[in-house]
Amino acid sequence: MAQSIQLTAPNQTTYLQPTGLFINNEFVPSVYGDTLSTVNPFDESLIASVSSAGPEDIDLAVASARNAFKSEEWQSLTGYDRGVLLTRLADLCDRDKHILATIDAWDNGKPYEQALGEDVAEVISVFRYYGGWADKIQGRTIPTSDAKLAYTRHEPIGVCGQIIPWNYPSMMAAWKLGPALACGNTVVIKAAEQTPLSILYLASLIKEAGFPAGVVNVVNGPGTTAGAAMASHQDIDKIAFTGSTNTGKAIMIAAASNLKAITLETGGKSPLLVFDDANLDQAVKWSHVGIMTNMGQICTSTSRIYVQESIYETFVEKFKQYTIENSIVGSQFDPQVNHGPQVSAAQKSRILGYLETAKREGAQLVLGDEQPSPDAKGYFVKPIIFKDTNRDMTVVREEVFGPFVVIQSFKDQKDAIDKANDTEYGLGAAVFTENITRAHNVAAAIQAGMVWINSSQDSHFAIPFGGYKQSGIGRELGEYALSAYTQVKAVHVNLGTWL
Ligand code: ADP
Repeated sequence: MAQSIQLTAPNQTTYLQPTGLFINNEFVPSVYGDTLSTVNPFDESLIASVSSAGPEDIDLAVASARNAFKSEEWQSLTGYDRGVLLTRLADLCDRDKHILATIDAWDNGKPYEQALGEDVAEVISVFRYYGGWADKIQGRTIPTSDAKLAYTRHEPIGVCGQIIPWNYPSMMAAWKLGPALACGNTVVIKAAEQTPLSILYLASLIKEAGFPAGVVNVVNGPGTTAGAAMASHQDIDKIAFTGSTNTGKAIMIAAASNLKAITLETGGKSPLLVFDDANLDQAVKWSHVGIMTNMGQICTSTSRIYVQESIYETFVEKFKQYTIENSIVGSQFDPQVNHGPQVSAAQKSRILGYLETAKREGAQLVLGDEQPSPDAKGYFVKPIIFKDTNRDMTVVREEVFGPFVVIQSFKDQKDAIDKANDTEYGLGAAVFTENITRAHNVAAAIQAGMVWINSSQDSHFAIPFGGYKQSGIGRELGEYALSAYTQVKAVHVNLGTWL
């Protein structure tokens, strides 16, 4: 099998798509001999087949990362040198941003303009941001007594296994690679089987940027074989994962076998609260952003909306109208479109399954009855809005991961907080109010890793990202991610207590 092929995307972008596994700075076929195929979610046409890793390939990738970690070449680089590599990688992603955005739009189904302006823009920023951190990772001196000098070194953890999802393919790779490399680790990273392509292109840029061989190894492959082999691998020191809560639990169990350090960013069922003193038009617009962006395929999507009783019906009507007028469904390469297909047939049928469940359980359908016929090509799901839902309904408790939102009313601030926190998840939350005291009090009372006041999904690479409860362990992004990729060594220097 050739290790790269020339592809022309529906937007006429022609580029060289690597198709191998990326081990030791080379694209190589899978020893396991498997491939996986990926399709355009718009019309289900085949895009490409790429090498798929089995356990032997994971062994080779890990050995490559281990050798690189121990190598003079990597160890002798200073933080400043690693920063130069990361900023060079950012520049290369900037140079090729149209290609990266084309691949993510084609492979995932997300609108090209979003892939370019949000995903790839963030990839570039994240690499530049962590390039800036690489020479500022510092320990401390700790005063105890004049007889002792104590200081800490923040050292890399070693070989990091990183398992990423399909909803933001290149962006999730950057979130994981940026801090890991800034801190001096080496990496084996696996993309999701639905979106294997952009990470391989990124691998070619990593090599071009000048990273030593083996520092970054990229594998594709199914979660239950390639991913599981990483989670249980005895020579991986840390595993970082973004995906569903159940998979996170399985990874945590497998990672226990050699007590790997772990970072998990898992599911969510994030609430959005609209108080009667809110700017209603703004609340409506942000609520739409909060659940319809990326066709609802965001772990932090604000998928439960709670509205104060006095404005409940008005909000529901305005939100429905706004969604009808502003969710433009179609091809991801049509510049007018902001709502492409879902990533896969499995996701489409899962979401449509929840549509039937919600109806059966008595929720009131506001929008979404007219879905494409089951045999229509492409994985399209039009926006779905339910009102008059309650805590016992499946669609209020479970993460749907689609353009699917449930609305209910609340009485007062206490009721709003109780309802917001009535979930096993704790990833994001949004609060709409013009009352500054209420805004901060509610933000403090909500059990979630991120609270947006008068916005939703308004994240930033410099601000920590992660979950409470079953939404995860640890934080990505910002300075906080550095502690997820370093371990602390305390050095005690005896200044003269001679025995
Ligand atoms: P989804 O259900 O949306 O596909 P997953 O959490 O299953 O989300 O997948 C996220 C990532 O985790 C993907 O890269 C997938 O291949 C990987 N994965 C799935 N199952 C496992 C597993 N048992 N062990 C390790 N990785 C897994």
